[in-house]
Amino acid sequence: MINKENLYDVLIIGGGPAGLTASIYAKRAGLKVAFFEKDAPGGKVTKTAFVENYPGFKKIEGYNLALSMLNQATEIGVEYKYGNVIKIQKDNNTFIIKTEDGKEHFSKTVIIASGMTNRKSGAIGEDKYFNKGVSYCAICDGAFYKNQDVAIIGGGNSALEEALFLTDIVSKVYIVHRRDEFRADQSVVEHVKRNNKIELVLDSIVKEIKGDDKHVNSILVENAKTQELKSIEVRAVFPFVGFDPVSNFISNDFVISNNGFIIVNDKMETNIPGLFSAGDINNKTYRQISTAISDGTIAALAAKKYIDDNEW
Ligand code: NAP
Repeated sequence: MINKENLYDVLIIGGGPAGLTASIYAKRAGLKVAFFEKDAPGGKVTKTAFVENYPGFKKIEGYNLALSMLNQATEIGVEYKYGNVIKIQKDNNTFIIKTEDGKEHFSKTVIIASGMTNRKSGAIGEDKYFNKGVSYCAICDGAFYKNQDVAIIGGGNSALEEALFLTDIVSKVYIVHRRDEFRADQSVVEHVKRNNKIELVLDSIVKEIKGDDKHVNSILVENAKTQELKSIEVRAVFPFVGFDPVSNFISNDFVISNNGFIIVNDKMETNIPGLFSAGDINNKTYRQISTAISDGTIAALAAKKYIDDNEW
């Protein structure tokens, strides 16, 4: 049953930079606001070793940046709801959010800020050895491989930045990339090329991640041009081959999206009045912390205006 106590002004799905920023703006606008998060609040930033392009900080640990955002939100009274959202519906002018624990939550507006999750590389053995040498978080698991050889798959900013992070811990990092040019920013590529603990394995695909019953011990790599196969001994493999949208709780006939990435206008409005979307989950070109917080700001201000303009 909806009543004055359980009806929120804004419910936010996701506690990354977009969601936390939206929560701060909404709370400061005097709204009743909470955010849902099923993992550690802070989003992907918590798993990023260092951030060097967030204005105001020359270099900050991702975890500390995320924690500062979370503390800023909760200290002003934003409510943090631990939980996994499985469905959003709209009944007249009220949104109903269902969580995995069977509960229903009610709100005048909703901001989707659920972000993205790690994409798998598709190598044989990737699932079998997950947590047994395969990891999607260098900052969480890198320390297990002190003075050992590891491999990274991918050629974007994530792959190269995490490779640089790992060189302080491990003896050698192989970066296996399917092309001979990188998608990562030039400055990061230069750093990687200068680092003598990194060996580039270009034009190459990891076909299989191999090991014994307990742990990874090698990768089988195929040269994409010559089809030549070679085995490289490594104790860990970190695939950083991009991300997929976390939008499985939104049905296609409800919210318009492009392959799961939500389509919004410049006010972060979706096709459903009162439903906004912000951050990496949106259908857009540039995904940075700075663009996520911009989206979160706009979504919260637009949600406030929507509430003010409608009868409740
Ligand atoms: P990304 O930029 O999409 O790069 C993914 C990389 O993985 C590409 O090099 C791609 O190869 C490769 N790849 C994709 N599928 C593959 C597969 N199945 N097998 C092997 N390789 C595969 O992803 P990202 O590096 O995670 O970055 C995501 C977004 O976050 C980007 O917009 C990025 O700029 C941003 N980001 C920014 C920072 C920063 O500014 N500090 C840090 C991290 C991420 P191809 O190049 O051949 O397609």
